[in-house]
Formats: sequence, structure tokens, C-alpha cells
Amino acid sequence: MSRFKNFIINCLPDFAVYFFAKPYLGGNSLEKGITKAKLLWEKGLSSTIDMLGEDLKSEEEVEHAINVYLKAIDRVNEEQMKDFTSISVKPSSLGYLVSEEYYIANLEKVVSYASEKGIEISIDMEDHNYTDVTLKSYKLLKVKYPLLGTVLQTRLFRTDRDIEELGDINARIRLCIGIYREPKEIAYTNKKLMKERLIAFAQELISKNHYVAFATHDEKYIKRMLAIVDEKNLTKEQIEFQMLLGVPRRKIQREIIERGFTMRLYVPFAEEKKYSIAYLRRRLYENPFMVFSVLRNILRSIFKFGN
Ligand SMILES: Cc1cc2nc3c(=O)[nH]c(=O)nc-3n(C[C@H](O)[C@H](O)[C@H](O)COP(=O)(O)OP(=O)(O)OC[C@H]3O[C@@H](n4cnc5c(N)ncnc54)[C@H](O)[C@@H]3O)c2cc1C
Repeated sequence: MSRFKNFIINCLPDFAVYFFAKPYLGGNSLEKGITKAKLLWEKGLSSTIDMLGEDLKSEEEVEHAINVYLKAIDRVNEEQMKDFTSISVKPSSLGYLVSEEYYIANLEKVVSYASEKGIEISIDMEDHNYTDVTLKSYKLLKVKYPLLGTVLQTRLFRTDRDIEELGDINARIRLCIGIYREPKEIAYTNKKLMKERLIAFAQELISKNHYVAFATHDEKYIKRMLAIVDEKNLTKEQIEFQMLLGVPRRKIQREIIERGFTMRLYVPFAEEKKYSIAYLRRRLYENPFMVFSVLRNILRSIFKFGN
């Protein structure tokens, strides 16, 4: 079934991928991403803006990416959005494929600029080839820049140890199951288990004075986490909730906001179509039913128009 699903999505031409999955995209420029974040805030939703474009191999491409991130920091600052908008970055967009030293220097450039303006940066977690360097750079800079956050993926066996090794740095951790299909020698394949680990690790991180961004769309697990929040009287200084832009979860998002917690959406924008297509294709693999949902909406509007 999963092979069939992948085959169908692989066969979809780029224009169809774009058509079916564009609700996941904040726009095709930084300005569109900024506008989207402001519109979300009108509904009480916070955001984290991400520029799509991974695996950059040349210094020229990386320098361009850095400039866009710096510009994004300026725009969030100018528009006074720092209380509800953060920025997400990726090691592979900041030069890790050129060299580790280059990446860490670039990350510090972006993070120190954001820190001067009180803006939060989060380092996304890519596949397992990046876990070590992401955590190394995170721990190195977190002590200097308290607002810096990163991500842990519950699918990886190593995550228990990674939590232990955070020590007492008051980390800011987005906790998710992880989107990359990893080798079975290093990662779980059972989704239920990954989600049980979301619940267990969130509690462990909070008990060790780390801040948790609980990132899942699974309402069953969000509700379980909310019950723990009530039981343990957790506050918005200890936990927030995160989802991807485009995933229809309005009711539970409203409930989280009404309870006084931050509900943050991941708002990606892409300056180049090839980057948006790669991201959107990943989202369609994750949820192929999106295709039917868009088709249903189109048919609905045609019939409404006809009446
Ligand atoms: C804010 C945020 C940031 C993230 N950052 C990272 C990261 O840095 N590194 C990383 O590896 N992963 C990241 N992820 C992805 C994450 O690891 C999961 O792959 C993703 O959230 C799907 O897992 P789930 O827990 O929602 O469970 P699932 O079981 O996949 O989904 C639960 C329910 O939500 C629905 N759903 C899930 N995804 C979609 C979708 N795209 N469209 C429509 N419905 C959907 C499913 O149909 C299902 O009903 C991030 C996720 C979020 C929300």
C-alpha cells in the first residue's frame, strides 16, 4: 500500500503537487511568509517562519540563504512580531555541506543577530546524518544565546541519551516523531511507540527544566498531553504546541489558545519553486488524502456555483 502510495505521488507532475499541497506553503517570498504570520496572529496563532532550500553545496547559495535569514530577522523586528513569530533554520541551508566550521560560524552569525533583537531561532532537525552536528552546535551556542531552540525526534533510539546529555542548559526543544525514514538499526518504525515517547519525553524534558514545543497533529496525543498539563499544573512557560501550516486542526488549536498556551504553526516559504515542490511532495507522502480533500473542495465550489 505504502509503495503504491509513493508510486502515485512520484508520478504526480510538479504542477499537480503544487496545486494539491499549496495550503502547506506560506508563500513564494519572505514578504508573503511575513504577511501569513501576521494573518495567523489575527486568529491568535503564533508561527515559526522557515525558508525552504536544503542541501546547499556552494558558498554562494549559503551566503544568499544567510542574507534572507538576516532580512527575515529585520522584518520580524520592524513589524514588531517577535512575541508571536520565531525563525527556523537548517544546518544544510547554513553551509554544513561545505564544512562543519563554516556552518557553525554561519549559525552564530544568524543567532547573534536575532538575539540582539530578542527573536527566537530554532534549528530544525534533518535526517540522522545531522543529529550530532545539530546538537553539538545547539549546545555550543545555547549557553550564549538563551532564546535558541532545536528539535528532537522520538523515532531515533538515541533520543533518550540525547535528552540526558542536554544536562542543565534549559533547552528549548521541539519534540516530534521525525519525518525522515531512518534505517531500522537506529530508529523505531512503529508510530504508536514514537508517539508514546512524545508523551514520556515531554514530561522528562519539563521535569529537567527544559521548555517543550509539543509538535504533532495527532489529537489523541495532544489531548493526553493537555490532561497532563492540567494534572501537573504546567504553564505556558514550560510547554507550547506546534503544527504545520495547512493541516486542518482549527478546533483543537482554538482550544489550546483558549487555555492560554502558545499554538505555533510552521510557515515555510520558498523563493524557488524546486524547493517548494520538494517540501510539498514530502507533505503529500505524509498525507496523500490531501489530494482528495482538495478535489472535494473544488467539486463543492463548482456545485455551489452551479446552484
Ligand atoms: C511545527 C513542526 C515542526 C516540525 N519540525 C520537524 C523537524 O525539524 N524535523 C523532523 O524530522 N520533523 C519535523 N516535523 C514533522 C514531524 O516529525 C512529523 O513528521 C509530522 O508532524 C507528522 O507526525 P504526527 O505526529 O503529526 O503524526 P501522524 O500520525 O503523521 O499524523 C497524525 C494525524 O495528523 C494528520 N496529518 C499528519 N501530517 C499531515 C499533513 N501533512 N497533512 C494533513 N494531515 C496530516 C494525519 O493524517 C493523522 O491523522 C515537524 C512537525 C511540526 C508540526
